[in-house]
Amino acid sequence: MAGHVSTQVPALSSVPPTKFGMAVATVDGCVLTAGDGTEPFSIQSLSKLFALCALLQRNPAVWDHIGWGPTDSGYGSVAELERNLGRPRNPFVNPGALVVTDRLIELTGDAVGATIDLLASTSGTAVINSDGRVALSETVADHRNAAIAHVLAEHGKLVNAIDRVLTQYFAQCAIAASVETVAKSALFLADRSADATVLDSGSVRRVNAVLLMSGMYGAAGDVAYRIGLPAKSGIGGGVLAIMPGLGTVCVWSPPLDTDGNSAGGVAAIEEFARLAGWSVF
Ligand code: GLU
Repeated sequence: MAGHVSTQVPALSSVPPTKFGMAVATVDGCVLTAGDGTEPFSIQSLSKLFALCALLQRNPAVWDHIGWGPTDSGYGSVAELERNLGRPRNPFVNPGALVVTDRLIELTGDAVGATIDLLASTSGTAVINSDGRVALSETVADHRNAAIAHVLAEHGKLVNAIDRVLTQYFAQCAIAASVETVAKSALFLADRSADATVLDSGSVRRVNAVLLMSGMYGAAGDVAYRIGLPAKSGIGGGVLAIMPGLGTVCVWSPPLDTDGNSAGGVAAIEEFARLAGWSVF
């Protein structure tokens, strides 16, 4: 498959490009897993989605601090944050994700633990860990997230000390989980029942709307046009898509395309969605 394994986090650059796992989970209880579908991989930005939902469970007023609109500036733009006077454009660009982690630390004392708890409890996975080697590797190599955290702090947008927020954020991104775990866990975002237990139905609708507009970096519009599903990707090569009312599909294939999305992941989800007739439109 075309593309290159991410080198942004040095520890991830040695992940074999031929890894491929796929899992489909449906709201009526069916789970199908193929390839390396039970092998944990670095979920990276997929963790932003689960951290956001863990925060929304505790404080639905997240949207007072973070916007919900799309960006054309990339997920790590310091300039956009400056232009917006420190208000993150949405929870999936890094400024928004750092604010989510910060608020989750404030409410729970452990944003990584709260994110893992949500993943574990909703998927029925007994043990989910954050990979310390990956987190350390990003800590050593990173400058951009540190710059973003300083701009947020200058505008009074962080409650906790910058170092604590960054340490927790890198550990959160370094959570390792399989596509099977991620697909099963995210089923609460496909749950349309009025008595949804994990997250209230209003939050589920809003999260899916923001995923559709902003979950796939600069390719969100392209993915909405070609596939038509709310989706989130990460630089570890994972992609998750939600079909409201029916289920979820998650793919792990490490080589990334020029937008930073898993090339094989997007292709596999596009083909699956076509065959299954999944689209929100
Ligand atoms: N840890 C990476 C970062 O914060 C995650 C990027 C991603 O997966 O989009 O830059």
